[in-house]
Amino acid sequence: MILDVTTAAGAMTGARYIESLRDDREVWLDGERVADVPNHPAFRGMVNELARIYDLQNSDEFRDRMTFVSPETGNRCSLSWLLPRSAEDLKRKRLNSEIWNEQSWGQLGRSPDILAPHITALYAIRDSLGSVKHPRCDFGENIANYHRFCQENDLFLTHALGDPQVDRSQQPQNEQRNVIEEELALHVVEETGEGVIITGGKQLATAAPISNETYVSLSATFLRRSDPKCVLAFSIPTNSPGMKILCREPVSQGYGGFGHPLGLNYDEQDAMLFFEEVLVPWDRIFMLYDSSPLVAHLTRRTNFQGWPNLVRIHQRMKLMTAVATLIAEAIGVIEYREVSAKLGEMATYTEMWRHAMDGIEHNAFLTDDGLMSLGDMNAMNIYFSQMSARMVELLREICGSGIIMQPSEKDLASADLRPYLDRYMRGKGVDVEYKSRLFRLAHDLAVSSFGMRQEIYEYWHGGDPSRNRINLMRNYDQADVMERIKEMLSRPLANEG
Ligand SMILES: Cc1cc2nc3c(=O)[nH]c(=O)nc-3n(C[C@H](O)[C@H](O)[C@H](O)COP(=O)(O)OP(=O)(O)OC[C@H]3O[C@@H](n4cnc5c(N)ncnc54)[C@H](O)[C@@H]3O)c2cc1C
Repeated sequence: MILDVTTAAGAMTGARYIESLRDDREVWLDGERVADVPNHPAFRGMVNELARIYDLQNSDEFRDRMTFVSPETGNRCSLSWLLPRSAEDLKRKRLNSEIWNEQSWGQLGRSPDILAPHITALYAIRDSLGSVKHPRCDFGENIANYHRFCQENDLFLTHALGDPQVDRSQQPQNEQRNVIEEELALHVVEETGEGVIITGGKQLATAAPISNETYVSLSATFLRRSDPKCVLAFSIPTNSPGMKILCREPVSQGYGGFGHPLGLNYDEQDAMLFFEEVLVPWDRIFMLYDSSPLVAHLTRRTNFQGWPNLVRIHQRMKLMTAVATLIAEAIGVIEYREVSAKLGEMATYTEMWRHAMDGIEHNAFLTDDGLMSLGDMNAMNIYFSQMSARMVELLREICGSGIIMQPSEKDLASADLRPYLDRYMRGKGVDVEYKSRLFRLAHDLAVSSFGMRQEIYEYWHGGDPSRNRINLMRNYDQADVMERIKEMLSRPLANEG
């Protein structure tokens, strides 16, 4: 059966998105099942923020910059789902990603815009996926139909690639693992006429409780399984029976928007997924028992995931640099040489990132399939995992103790306290209210539980940076320079004889 798009409504609206989350999904938070996800305090801010951006893409002001007309249905569809076929398409996609990330200040690592390219990247290797044969379905056709289905309905996906962190020495990719009594990694239990029945856990899936669909696959770490039943990639509705979503503790809940200007609206949540005999229909499976199509593409040059994350990181760096500059001005330290140099260091990273994005755009190329790929960016994700921590460190250093010592909204409203706050807690040419709000923003970027979660995210989200460095190194072509070095070393020393 092909996923039907006859009733698809195109680009998501805020109201449609909020309503889509009321589908009896099994979301657990702090020991309790959440009854109404979009209305729960742990999710409300983030859901409303996404709804606001979804409405923007349908507004007169943004429609042409964020959507395109589907040639097949005539629906307006999000540019996040556009299959790029020209340099112009890539530019349109970049602009759309810039809007998503400007609107959300580069804080959403797993926004709908960032997840859509995961399916586009699979679409691009559909022939390879289809080369693995199964009597029940064609995996290549499945991914093409699924891409179309997501595009025409503008679905918000979460993705889950890793095994539960129980015993890393005994995972299915380890040939030497012991025979184990119980398989914890997600695996096929049986095949039926309708699809496969799966059981197991996944760690972890950001935005799972507020997504429409759950896309499951294997990251580079987990791809080389010795046990075929643990090799699978698919996507199912997030309310699929038998799937439990366990959320972590929400971050930065206290003191509202004054105390946590970012945490209040951008806690995208991270979740464990538990699958208990869940049915995955045949038309939603993209890989089964054989991971060779994905392994073959580990070293691929094509890049269909580029813009959203690159643009997000750029926005995040711009925000951090600007906040640090405003703070240096607000406490009269901007003229100090050391402070200016630190700000310059932040600006250097931000500018380097912009130059690299331009380079990736410059290196874009047309694939044999007629899709337009951005240039290679493997090193950039690794670079940001280390550089993000440096940005946070610089921001903290520039702020001094002010990053923690600020009055609250209620302190400011107290008639008893206010004269003291006006006198002792104002800044250079700025009043105490502005100054405390500015510093609370820095606190939310670099100190609060929200800020710390963001920093942990930046380090791990692209997978283990050490593994990524090793993979980069293994495919890094140095043959030419190494030959030249050897040739130089074989020559007699210049001062000989
Ligand atoms: C905030 C956040 C959001 C995330 N969102 C998502 C998401 O949406 N979807 C998703 O699929 N994943 C997501 N991830 C998971 C992320 O991809 C993983 O955290 C990352 O791949 C590292 O895996 P792990 O956490 O299981 O750590 P582990 O693999 O358990 O590593 C633990 C430690 O052991 C070391 N180690 C592990 N294996 C080896 C080895 N073979 N040799 C040497 N050292 C080793 C690691 O370097 C690390 O120090 C998210 C992670 C975070 C923190």
